[in-house]
Amino acid sequence: SGAFLSVRDLYVRFSTEDGIVKAVDGLSFDLERGKTLGIVGESGSGKSVTNLTVLGLHNPRTTEVAGEIVLDGQELTGASNRTLEKLRGDKMAMIFQDSLTALSPYYTVGRQIAEPYVKHRGVSKREGRARAIEMLEKVGIPQPKLRVDDYPHQFSGGMRQRAMIAMALVCNPDLLIADEPTTALDVTVQAQILDLLKDLQQEFGSAIILITHDLGVVSNIADDLLVMYAGKAVERGSVRQLINEPQHPYTWGLLGSMPRLMSDVTEQLTPIPGAPPSLLAPPPGCSFHTRCGFTDLVGGGRCSAERPVLPEGRGSACHLTDEQKRSVFIETIQPR
Ligand code: SF4
Ligand code: MG
Repeated sequence: SGAFLSVRDLYVRFSTEDGIVKAVDGLSFDLERGKTLGIVGESGSGKSVTNLTVLGLHNPRTTEVAGEIVLDGQELTGASNRTLEKLRGDKMAMIFQDSLTALSPYYTVGRQIAEPYVKHRGVSKREGRARAIEMLEKVGIPQPKLRVDDYPHQFSGGMRQRAMIAMALVCNPDLLIADEPTTALDVTVQAQILDLLKDLQQEFGSAIILITHDLGVVSNIADDLLVMYAGKAVERGSVRQLINEPQHPYTWGLLGSMPRLMSDVTEQLTPIPGAPPSLLAPPPGCSFHTRCGFTDLVGGGRCSAERPVLPEGRGSACHLTDEQKRSVFIETIQPR
């Protein structure tokens, strides 16, 4: 397909002492320039692995990757380390959950923001520093000229997260991947950081992949959502579709842990019981059948025998009929 970022039939497997982990199991999605895709799921759903693989940050000695990742016409799955290094920090960049591990304590914030700019643009250190000051200002750090020479520990958690955003955007990347960028922050700062990301996206025009376990976090900023469970995409659609007419029982469960948007619904929903399956030995059929409350509605033991397929475009990977998906949501999940 001609999408700006196109991921097709991606499989990621790593070998561990216990066996082969099927971390990503046949994933496909598209992302257009300037758009935001939210990838939502519990930890271990494969969402972080997917994005580390897009960036080429997986360990090639223990990881087996199959499928296609095409960024702006360039195939990334077979790309050399050299090619990927040229792209990372320049054309594609990442914001991590924990700014303390992403920023080195030994270098000033300004130097770390400037580094990708100096490396990829070939400018002088002085120009890099000027750019760092400009970026600190853009991400809302007060008195950037004074703060540029601070070390990360002199910044608050929220300021460090802003500095990491500055570092990610310094080369104006076409693709920005943010993995749980606000999880470590309190709710007020979370909202500020998400607003900032949204504003900067308008200015820079980057495509964003926002990875989170929290549907509430992405629903304000994303255009489209992909819900992942046990290494597979189980539902995709626009934010509006996912919030107003979610189709997959797992998405219904996730909505139950989204109190801010559906406060009146929350009480009626219980959190999803049980835990995600081990990816060393994923269950046959629908990966969600070990936790799903609707297998009887499908009947015939089909849920544990036959793997449901996620259609292209809007849809969900579940054996319930479209009518059942609609009526179950309206009658038992949505408030009356
Ligand atoms: Fe539940 Fe069956 Fe649908 Fe899987 S296919 S989500 S087990 S109803
Ligand atoms: Mg993760």
